[in-house]
Amino acid sequence: MTALLEIDAMSVHFQVGSGMLRRGKTLKAVDNVTLQINENETVALVGESGSGKTTLGRVVAGLGSTTAGSVRFRGAPLEASGKIQMIFQDPFSALDPRMLVGDVVAEPLRLLGRGKARDRRDRAREMLDQVRLPKDAAERFPHEFSGGQRQRIAIARALVADPELIVADEPLSALDVSIQSQVLNLLMDLKESRQLALLFISHDLAVVHHLADRVAVLYLGRIVEVASRDGLFKNPSHPYTQALLQAAPKIGMRRSSQTTMLRGEIPSPLNPPPGCSFHPRCPKARDICRQVAPALESAPGRTGQLAACHFKD
Ligand code: SF4
Repeated sequence: MTALLEIDAMSVHFQVGSGMLRRGKTLKAVDNVTLQINENETVALVGESGSGKTTLGRVVAGLGSTTAGSVRFRGAPLEASGKIQMIFQDPFSALDPRMLVGDVVAEPLRLLGRGKARDRRDRAREMLDQVRLPKDAAERFPHEFSGGQRQRIAIARALVADPELIVADEPLSALDVSIQSQVLNLLMDLKESRQLALLFISHDLAVVHHLADRVAVLYLGRIVEVASRDGLFKNPSHPYTQALLQAAPKIGMRRSSQTTMLRGEIPSPLNPPPGCSFHPRCPKARDICRQVAPALESAPGRTGQLAACHFKD
């Protein structure tokens, strides 16, 4: 397996509420995350809202900067090469309503200075055809299309510059349930035919189970477990992962593992609990959990599976 993207000890912190006379607080949206995505691999990033998934995805797509650590693509620092593109949750606000769809799709090529205007237009039409939209779509405006069709336009735009990695941030959650599977199947078909890697950000574990090769679980900005899809769904090691799976009963995890209920809300990242930040919600918490943050380490008896817990299963 060849590493395409290497995130190493990456943190993204924001200063909140600071001013002339006040010292603000530090919001640790992403904290010391290490993760690798290989060529043609689908890695899902899961966790509740407020876990830092979107912030992490935006940095990978070049839409945000890091406070510490590094992100490397094919061994080099990230640069605006078009090799990483992002698909956003809301296809209504992601597309400029004043631009013709053909121009929307061709825009990444224009920004990268690739080809002449006519070549870019032809390429945009080709892409619209690949996402199964009618030929005249290029001459119309985004508001003339349904939500599902707009997400297809967004996919065409993301793929037009021949990326190697797509960051898809909850790409189905704003869509009608009836068309979610069509858009998902289209995305997966294109991923396969173009040998793309995918960082798929989602709270929908059924979808993640369907498409992921590996899964990383984020809690308050930190990875608490990372494992192969089967490892994670069949033998979750971290109590938070177990609780997430318990809350998604359609997915078959072992009955004997179903011991953790997810209690309460995710704490504010402005004021994270000391020690293991999951301890206020964890039924297994003991004294050490309130004082010492556990490192992300191999889970016993599970090859390639890492968990950050003092008492991992
Ligand atoms: Fe629960 Fe302690 Fe493990 Fe944190 S370290 S998940 S509180 S058992």
